Amino acid sequence: MNGHDRYSRSASRKTTLRLAKESLLMSTTPNIAIVGAGPGGLTLARVLHVRGIRSTLFERDSHALARPQGGTLDLDAASGQFALDQAGLMGEFRHLARYEDQGMRILDKHAQAHFDHPGDAADDRPEIDRTQLRDLLLDSLPQDFVQWGHELQKARPSEEGTYDLLFENANGRPFDLVVGADGAWSKIRPLVSSYKPQYTGVTIIEFGIDDIDARYPSLSQLVGHGNLAAYGDDAKALIAQRNANAHVRVYAAMRMPEGWAGQHFNFSNPGEVREKLLSLYGDWAPELKDLIRLSSDRIQPLSLYALPVGHRWTNRTGITLLGDAAHLMSPYGGSGVNNAMRDAAELGRLLSESNDWREAVRIYELEMFERVLDSARDASHGIATALSHMQLEIAVGEMQAILG
Ligand SMILES: Cc1cc2nc3c(=O)[nH]c(=O)nc-3n(C[C@H](O)[C@H](O)[C@H](O)COP(=O)(O)OP(=O)(O)OC[C@H]3O[C@@H](n4cnc5c(N)ncnc54)[C@H](O)[C@@H]3O)c2cc1C
Repeated sequence: MNGHDRYSRSASRKTTLRLAKESLLMSTTPNIAIVGAGPGGLTLARVLHVRGIRSTLFERDSHALARPQGGTLDLDAASGQFALDQAGLMGEFRHLARYEDQGMRILDKHAQAHFDHPGDAADDRPEIDRTQLRDLLLDSLPQDFVQWGHELQKARPSEEGTYDLLFENANGRPFDLVVGADGAWSKIRPLVSSYKPQYTGVTIIEFGIDDIDARYPSLSQLVGHGNLAAYGDDAKALIAQRNANAHVRVYAAMRMPEGWAGQHFNFSNPGEVREKLLSLYGDWAPELKDLIRLSSDRIQPLSLYALPVGHRWTNRTGITLLGDAAHLMSPYGGSGVNNAMRDAAELGRLLSESNDWREAVRIYELEMFERVLDSARDASHGIATALSHMQLEIAVGEMQAILG
């Protein structure tokens, strides 16, 4: 064997080794796309980032302030806070969280109190506004990390086993793993499941009161520091939640047919909506009706949908779901965002700890299906009994069991 032969054999061994290493690396670190920059998608991106794994995050909103993010969220120690801890953000969270706003008050429609827990800063489900949570997560990612203005139309499987993402205005490069964190009406879910969210029978009309402490001190006192829920015997409720900066968000919840709000209210005329709501709540106590009368003009309907309890699918390589995309549940369990963030933390951890990402996703799914079962059952039970004639007794009983 001459020198040239020896050189070319050693060069070819090196090339083979390099290719083997590259292929091992490719099998251990997939090219990851996350669709949806809600609390779930952002938490996953952040957990992967702190663990040194790259991902690309696509969001349909054109920028972070494109739309209001919604009300206050209470983050549970075992899920929402656990995820923030995994994301290295508990310090910042403690700074923003409102530990003082964990109160719960239950009234009947005559404003008679049946349960009153003033809130204790030692309770461990502190509140944070959704916008603050989103900003906390966004600020923890590198600048320009989120690909704003990318509304996914479809993920298309390719012959190589990857997925091409088709957006309204652009097509993304192929990805090994696509995580659908795109909420209730996920465009990724149809790749693994044929289920569609079903209407729960409950419609909410959402509005708010700004600067309540200074402008309406007695109403502010009625709401207290946390949640006020007032239940009628007529399939109606008013739920008021204190947000940051003396803002109170109010939900008028009613059991109504799907599409009812759009047919009966003209939301471009807030004054008329308020008048109609006031007549619907005609025999309610004046101080409770003030929540409607004094609201600002930002009024919108929300129909509540849910996926079936126990929703699951057969693992499909390269596709998975988290949060509402995987297990949309009614807000009557108060755990949707908490579950979305816990999913993200677990998926991020498993992907970073395993050298077989396909197996990591399989394990994530099996554990997640089990983990969310109790919350999905609670949320389903909550919405089934909500707005029944027994709702007041049920809500008081549940609160006494939880808070004593
Ligand atoms: C009235 C109400 C009150 C609630 N209160 C609570 C509470 O107190 N506690 C709690 O734990 N949960 C609560 N929830 C539930 C909670 O809001 C959700 O469970 C949570 O937001 C789910 O997070 P997510 O990241 O999975 O989805 P989302 O928050 O829905 O985020 C999905 C993201 O994907 C983006 N997206 C959607 N489609 C596309 C697309 N095609 N292409 C690109 N991007 C897309 C969206 O713009 C959005 O940014 C409440 C829900 C409602 C309706």
